[in-house]
Amino acid sequence: MRHENLGIVLQGEGVSEGIVLGAVARWDRHETLVEHVRLPESLVNAEVSRFYEAIARAEREIDELYVSLAASTPKGSPAVEGEHLGLLDAHKMMLRDPSIVNDTERYIREEHLNAEWALSMTLKRLEGMFASVKDPFFRERGQDIHHIGERLMQFLAQGDDAEAPPSPLTHLPQGAILFAHSLSPAEALAASRQQVAAFVIEVGSTSGHTAIIARSLGIPAVVGLAGAGDVVGDGDRVIVDGFEGEIVVRPTEYEEILYARRANRAKAVRRAVRQNRTLPAETPDGFSMVLRANLDFAAQAPQVEALGGRGVGLYRTEFLFLERTGPPTEDEQTEAYVSVLKALAPHPVTIRTLDVGGDKMIKFSGPEHAGLRAIRYCLANEDLFLMQLRALLRASNHGELRILVPFIASPYEVREVRRLLAIASEQLKERGIRHAPDIPVGAMIEVPVAALSAQQLAREVDFFSVGTNDLIQYTMAVSRESAAPDYLTNPLQSGFLKLLRMITDAGHHAGITTAICGELAGKPWFAPILIALGFNELSMTPEAIPLVKEVIRRTPRAEALALLQKFNKMDAEEAKDYLDSYMVEHFPEIVTPRFRGAPHYMR
Ligand code: PEP
Ligand code: MG
Repeated sequence: MRHENLGIVLQGEGVSEGIVLGAVARWDRHETLVEHVRLPESLVNAEVSRFYEAIARAEREIDELYVSLAASTPKGSPAVEGEHLGLLDAHKMMLRDPSIVNDTERYIREEHLNAEWALSMTLKRLEGMFASVKDPFFRERGQDIHHIGERLMQFLAQGDDAEAPPSPLTHLPQGAILFAHSLSPAEALAASRQQVAAFVIEVGSTSGHTAIIARSLGIPAVVGLAGAGDVVGDGDRVIVDGFEGEIVVRPTEYEEILYARRANRAKAVRRAVRQNRTLPAETPDGFSMVLRANLDFAAQAPQVEALGGRGVGLYRTEFLFLERTGPPTEDEQTEAYVSVLKALAPHPVTIRTLDVGGDKMIKFSGPEHAGLRAIRYCLANEDLFLMQLRALLRASNHGELRILVPFIASPYEVREVRRLLAIASEQLKERGIRHAPDIPVGAMIEVPVAALSAQQLAREVDFFSVGTNDLIQYTMAVSRESAAPDYLTNPLQSGFLKLLRMITDAGHHAGITTAICGELAGKPWFAPILIALGFNELSMTPEAIPLVKEVIRRTPRAEALALLQKFNKMDAEEAKDYLDSYMVEHFPEIVTPRFRGAPHYMR
């Protein structure tokens, strides 16, 4: 077969797995033209009302989407439903966020601007604020604001017409590959109801809400294909490979066959490994590990059990604090924590205390604490921290809670956390509220000095959980936010392995559980090393659980130890090549070529 004149291959980031072939339906959101009009005093009140009417209509639209999504969600996929409904809730909340509403109203009242102009000023300020944040997750929230603002503009432009502006996503051909410059979560949901086969989005990232939606809907998605719009036309046949982040434009027959084979094989492997959901994560020679899930939203909880996870090893609470001008109340926090604990009972749920600060700034933090992150920030904001601790203690009555403290650098910080926990407990007692006794408190080991002080720290805490995302960036002095050469992020560097070993040794010596919750835990490629190092628990994105479990169930610990032993005599690059060949030989169906060529160790 001749393989000349192959289709154009574009490389982006695969954010939702699966391979599909289909015809492109391009979709461009028509950005509304903003009229700039200064109003006479007599029209100001009416203009404010017009603005609030647009908000009310946007809310009604979300409510309708909510109802139809809940009705159309297939039975047995509560995760899909829960997560999306949660996102719609978040969008609805944003519509009433004081930073949008109050500022816009102020522009109308004080400067007599028409509602569109006032809203565009507010949005510009907010989007600018989010764009300057380094953390991609938080930057992505700027996109959400943009989408919401755009919809409000459309309602304003619609005038008194009671009909909502028609959603341009309601007439897509079934099985289309939706191609867009950007796509809001609500738009992705609307498109999914038209049974699109895949999303290809020029902007976006894996931590964006739209990527999350694509994953939980099981729709393959590739993002980060800037400029792809120049080569893809309506109706073009395209292969979307959500595993590798590739799209092939106008593929040849040969490529179609090749990708169809890959798609079938991937489906078969996924189906097969999911059969292990009720089996233990135990090596053939009896070394047991516990696999848990990392959650960013309470709504993801039901997915965990379906994929064979036993509880939660990391629930990141910062998302509760985001996109608001004040912290969530103690009651709001309690409710969120209780919902995860109940959903996962009887398994433990590890809730991480607030990890903000540094480049993950919340709106309501004062400038005096700028630069302080995670536990450092919380200790400088005792009232805020005490409120979270009280909410955690209250929630502890509803399941098996563990509290995890991020960014621990010194035993002093752990002692401070325990002191504040005792105060929070007293405060609750004064209100007649009881909580579960002896809640385990763990330290995230993600600052190099914590790994080096693991022996002392192990005496202060009930468990360790290693945050490899930060531990790698701070050990190697390489930012996790920007691309770096593989050699700098290769966890097989002997110094990095030494740090991991110090942590597990100290944990085992003190008799405490040693877990890992950084991205490394979810890489099947790295599982033999984590087995050899003796980690007791691995916590990862829920979808990764079946594959990692498969590797554990087929890797005798003795063999993993021998492998690690060999690395003592190799440099990191040789060790990587050796591990690649080992994995390809033993798990050819799991370790894909991309895994072998360019492992993404970091988030
Ligand atoms: C880590 O640093 O590895 C970790 C799990 O925490 P986060 O990714 O939230 O910083
Ligand atoms: Mg971290």
